[in-house]
Amino acid sequence: MTVIKGSDVAKALNAQTAEEIASWNGIVPKAAIIRVGDNPDDISYERGAVKRLESVGIACQLVTLPGDITQQAFLEAFSKVNDDPSVHGILLLRPLPPQLDETPVRNQINPDKDIDGISPINLAKVFSCDDSGFAPCTAKAVMEILDYAGVNLHGKNVAVVGASLVVGRPLSMLMLAREATVTLCHIYTKDVPKECREADIVVVACGVPKLIGEHHISEGTVVIDVGINLDENGKLCGDVDFDAVAPKASLITPVPGGVGAVTTSILASHVVKAARRLTGKENR
Ligand code: NAD
Repeated sequence: MTVIKGSDVAKALNAQTAEEIASWNGIVPKAAIIRVGDNPDDISYERGAVKRLESVGIACQLVTLPGDITQQAFLEAFSKVNDDPSVHGILLLRPLPPQLDETPVRNQINPDKDIDGISPINLAKVFSCDDSGFAPCTAKAVMEILDYAGVNLHGKNVAVVGASLVVGRPLSMLMLAREATVTLCHIYTKDVPKECREADIVVVACGVPKLIGEHHISEGTVVIDVGINLDENGKLCGDVDFDAVAPKASLITPVPGGVGAVTTSILASHVVKAARRLTGKENR
């Protein structure tokens, strides 16, 4: 069994991103990170993202809005960032507080600045195998890990557990584009253990701590754990029971130190892709 460390995957990608920025003769790509309120998970993600982006040479503009902001004030603040020509990429931390509806922002965000793939235009591109847009970073991070580990998806059976718009659904499409046969499982799937046992690759993104145990996995399966949860002792854990599953897996990602470590590197590469385009370095 091999444990794939996210930091190894991220290192290769970060080097590539930093090298490209260094060749731009002083043009500095800029990302705006919009946070509403003081949710500790958002603050922690923001801190990690800023550290990663700045380490490769990307400037960050933090836009912090009050947690009780009205829909109108939020949309006005968002428009300002969206229309700012010095901003190449926008990351909106979600979920938003309950008084805010994110649908108008999804529709309004400039698709060329949409580095986490929330606009319907970018999601449609993922679904139509058009890689000119931006896929959600976490889904892309899973693909990056599989590529790094040399896992060929062609003809493989994959079970994706969790069907959210941010991870499971776009990931299924990215895998289908590589000729995998994908079973997308969700809370109402009749027999998740059976679907997983029949798969060569199992990706779990459902937000249920240690849901996937030894009885879900066949010998030699590749297991990618997207989940980030706290266990009963308040310790970070994934959606996979690592100790139970690892002995049967051929490759497995840990939590922490797996997919999460790659997601912000994908984000950085997306800022560069956006800046490349918006500064006229690349024609569409
Ligand atoms: P979500 O709540 O939006 O969606 C959960 C999905 O899992 C739904 O489709 C639901 O039907 C399914 N599900 C829930 N319980 C299930 C069960 N018992 N059996 C089968 N399916 C079940 O969640 P999300 O936003 O996609 O996040 C999922 C997990 O991934 C969370 O732990 C989250 O913290 C983590 N996450 C990690 C990253 C990262 O960068 N590593 C990024 C985003 C989300």
